[in-house]
Amino acid sequence: MALFRGQTFTGIVVSRKNYKERDMLVRILTSSFGFKTFFVRGVRKRGFKWGAGIIPFTKATYIGDISTTGLSFITNVSDAEQYQNIVEDITLNAYATYILELSRVAFGDDDQLAIKWYATIEQALFLINQGLDPLIITSVIELQMLQLFGVQPELKHCVICQQNDRPMDFSEEYGGLLCQRHWQLDPNRLHLTPRTVLFMQRLAAVNLHKVSAIRVRPETKADLHHALDQIYYDMVGIYIPAKRFLSKLMRTHIRPLAPRTKNNTTD
Ligand SMILES: [Zn+2]
Repeated sequence: MALFRGQTFTGIVVSRKNYKERDMLVRILTSSFGFKTFFVRGVRKRGFKWGAGIIPFTKATYIGDISTTGLSFITNVSDAEQYQNIVEDITLNAYATYILELSRVAFGDDDQLAIKWYATIEQALFLINQGLDPLIITSVIELQMLQLFGVQPELKHCVICQQNDRPMDFSEEYGGLLCQRHWQLDPNRLHLTPRTVLFMQRLAAVNLHKVSAIRVRPETKADLHHALDQIYYDMVGIYIPAKRFLSKLMRTHIRPLAPRTKNNTTD
């Protein structure tokens, strides 16, 4: 076990729990070391200085001692900023929690992967906090993370004839899109609307740092949610507990759409 002293990094607080009488274990997704658990002493003592920096869904700059395998330590916190809307809104909170849980599973012990993805995760939370549709932002992450699970569906064109000018559907059996002419090959294709498929193609390639608004019809969102659930369940083979709550939300409530602006992504 190595300890790297006096490291400066940014991080997003994922969760925390009490430890002994006055201390806490705080889980942080860090920009430079992946997910780390920090032992923070004296949190529940009067006069504790970094209260704002260890609340879940806070982004801050930290200085600390990083352990490769054991507990790490925080020695200073600055520029703590809370994702206020995510903290206060149960729906946004559920989506953000799911993104962080999915990331944890996708990265595993691969800190280099976590470092590579950190800015994207941070941007996803930023956009959700700004009021962009959380289901769409989450779908972007789900689509783009498929490759981390060794699943790389062909989303550019039909897997059989390489055409992209007919209505398309998604086939798990064929590992990607089938055009209408080849639909008969897979009766268990997902039966998505062509509009949903078009949107999936777009989201799989979108750069979250360039998105400022997204407009999607509720029925397309429901279809997209269903498709990604199915793909993660069947092709990836994982089920993140936080997703169950999202599915329940999906059935009862669809959030209002964000306003359209000039660099929007729209269906
Ligand atoms: Zn075809």
